[in-house]
Formats: sequence, C-alpha cells, structure tokens
Amino acid sequence: MSQNNKQFLSVSDVQKKIISDIKAIDGTEQIDLRQALNRVLAQDIVATFDTPPCDNSAMDGYAFSSNEISNNPDAQSLTLKLVGQSFAGHPYEGNLSSGEAIRIMTGAKVPDNADTVVMQEHTETPNDSTVTITTIPKPLANVRKAGDDLTTGEIFLQQGKKLSPTDLAFLATQGIAEVRVSRKLRVAFFSTGDELRSIGEPLGDGDIYDSNRYSLYGLLKNLDVELLDMGVIPDDRNAIEAAFSSASKLADAIITSGGVSVGDADFVKETLEKIGQINFWKIAMKPGKPLAFGTIGNSLFFGLPGNPVAVIATFYQFVQPALKRMKGQTIVLPLTVKAKTTERLKKRPGRTDFQRGIMEQSDIGELTVRNAGTQASHVLTAMSRANCFIVIPAESGTIEAGERVDVQPFEGLIS
Ligand code: AMP
Ligand code: MG
Repeated sequence: MSQNNKQFLSVSDVQKKIISDIKAIDGTEQIDLRQALNRVLAQDIVATFDTPPCDNSAMDGYAFSSNEISNNPDAQSLTLKLVGQSFAGHPYEGNLSSGEAIRIMTGAKVPDNADTVVMQEHTETPNDSTVTITTIPKPLANVRKAGDDLTTGEIFLQQGKKLSPTDLAFLATQGIAEVRVSRKLRVAFFSTGDELRSIGEPLGDGDIYDSNRYSLYGLLKNLDVELLDMGVIPDDRNAIEAAFSSASKLADAIITSGGVSVGDADFVKETLEKIGQINFWKIAMKPGKPLAFGTIGNSLFFGLPGNPVAVIATFYQFVQPALKRMKGQTIVLPLTVKAKTTERLKKRPGRTDFQRGIMEQSDIGELTVRNAGTQASHVLTAMSRANCFIVIPAESGTIEAGERVDVQPFEGLIS
C-alpha cells in the first residue's frame, strides 16, 4: 500500500485540479422571478430605491417627536394630544405639532416630524383625544428607518449567487419581476456494463439492474440541470465510442459510471483517450478509488466508478463542485461540520474514508454521529439509512467512541 500510495492523489488535490480549470458556461437567460428559484444569478442586482422606502413603525403604539422627551428630561410620563392615525397602507397625511401624537400600527408610515414610537403596552388612553405614555421610550425607539435594509445604488445580490426563497423575497422588495441567470447546464449520463439491465427487462444469470442511473438522476435533478439519460451502454467498443461522441455534441458535461477501474475492458480507456483528453486518476478515498476526468470535445467528462456507493461519494466530492462551478456558482465544496462519534469507527490508514453515518442532535444540543451500517461500496442499505458522510482523513486509523469527527450532512452537500 505505502509503495503504491505515491500514485494516489488526495481528495483535496483532485478537487483543486478539477475546480481550478473550470469556467462558467456561456449563455444566460432572462426569466421570471418565480422561475429563478435555485438558479444562479448572471448579473449583479442593484437597489434602485431605498427599502424600506419610508420610516415606519416596528410596533403597534403611538408615534411622536423625540423633542417631547428631550424637552421634559425629568418627566416620569408624558401626556400628548392624539391628532390622528397611521395604518399600514394608510399614512397620516397631516403634520405633528409640539405636544401631539398619532396612533400608529406596525409597518405604517411614521409622519415626517415624528421619529419615535412607544408601544401600546406602555401607554394609557384616558379618552379618545389623549394618550399618556407611562414608560417613556428612548428617543428614536421602535422606528424602522428608510433604507435600513437597502440603500439606493447598493449591490444587494451578486453574480454567482444561487437564488434562495429569501432572495426571491429580496428581489420582490425592489419590485424586480425578472432576472438574468445562467442558462441551465445540459448533462448527459449513462451506465456501462454488460451485466446491467434496465428496469422492465428480465434479469439473466449474473445480471443486475442498473441502479446508478437512478442515483445520478436524483443527484443531478437536485442540481437543477437539464438531463439527458442515455441508458445502458454495453461493454462494446463501437457502442461506447458512439455514445461518447453523441453525448459530447449534446451536453456540457458527460457522466458515466463503471468501466474505469483497472481490469475493466481496456477499450473504454482506449476510446476515451482516442476521442478526448482524459486523466485516469487513482484517488486515496474509500469508496471511489478510480476516477476519469477530462474533456471530450467541448464537454467535461467524468468517469465515475461502478459501485453504487462510490458513484454517490465521488459525485458529491468532485462532480457536484464542478457542475456548480460551470453554473457560475461561487461556493461549491461540500459543507463539513464536527460531530462526536458515539461508536468506534473502524478504519485503516491510507485513504480518506467517506463512511455512511447517521447524524443526530443530543438532548443538550450536541451533534453526534454513528455508523449507518455495513460499509461496503456495493451496499445501498447503509447509504440509504445515512444522512451524512463521516469523513475520516487518509492518515487516520480507527476512531474511538467519543472523538470528534468531520461530517458532511447530505442536506449541506446539496445546497
Ligand atoms: P466496474 O467499475 O464497471 O468494474 O463496476 C464495479 C462494480 O459496480 C461492479 O460490481 C458492477 O457490476 C457495479 N456496477 C457498475 N455499474 C453499475 C450500475 N450502473 N448499477 C449498479 N451497479 C453497477
Ligand atoms: Mg463494468
């Protein structure tokens, strides 16, 4: 192992090699605000007016001028004349004079010559035309200033930002109906292997159903790309070459699974070398040792290992960051957090392990993690139960219960 280790690349080296060369794809489209959810902004967005557009009340209460407070520094209470009201969408039209206040509701415009709101609970209203402030607020209290959130001319969303539900709301506060986003990535994917049958076909002796196309479908769907499912390609030179070349004409990226490990029929490698510029890497990770990466024509190519768990692990670590980069996203690597393992995690030094784990929050709010089941790269049971990868560094051996480990929550891997 140690002798061979020299040929192995680390996970982070491969991430760097993949990400550093990738440029965002050309092509943008102008789309409706609702359609823009989860898309990547292709422009900076600038505020064209202040938001909130006017000073408004943060409370239901009474608005008045802070001069009333400064003019009566020793007062325990203030009694003011009630001259009107300001409701949300129905501002008070008049002017406030000295000694006057208005009734005001949350979100209602604060009149020009008022600057302070007292909450209703700190007042008494002995009659319809008077309010007594029993707890005097600080000057300027409970007023949300115009421009608190955004000021005119400010860039408030930057090119490369994936638009969240909050961002749609943020754009709506500026009355923006359409935005320019990167066009959708087109991603072709297929499986290779003579043993693979598609759902609906009978299984012959030694056959298995092609499951990788379904994990890839889901993983890619979550990334909001256009999918080109090219099915199962048999281990046949001509079929493989035809599939690669037609995929490269249609797609920005091509993803295959199977056929890249040592001992696989050589023509997969031969074909890739003939029609593209491909690196065949051995990565010090488990699962997922072999990975082919490069270009075929104008398409990026990822040749993932065949084992079902290895497909998912390598997708999250390498393919997803690369596709995010192609979409123009700025933040692309998986989120890693720390959790305490409640169990011993068996490991041999040499490769970075991506063990399937179940992460939970203990009663005292601490993140804990445990093993999700059999850690073999063909076993989907533990992968399905898991909600995170437990990432154990290459040089590390077995981890004892109680130690803190790196964890990549699957939810964090998606966003
Ligand atoms: P390979 O890299 O082609 O040697 O495949 C490694 C292992 O993954 C073998 O056991 C294959 O049968 C299995 N495998 C390859 N492709 C798929 C697939 N699409 N679905 C399920 N298992 C697969
Ligand atoms: Mg194969």
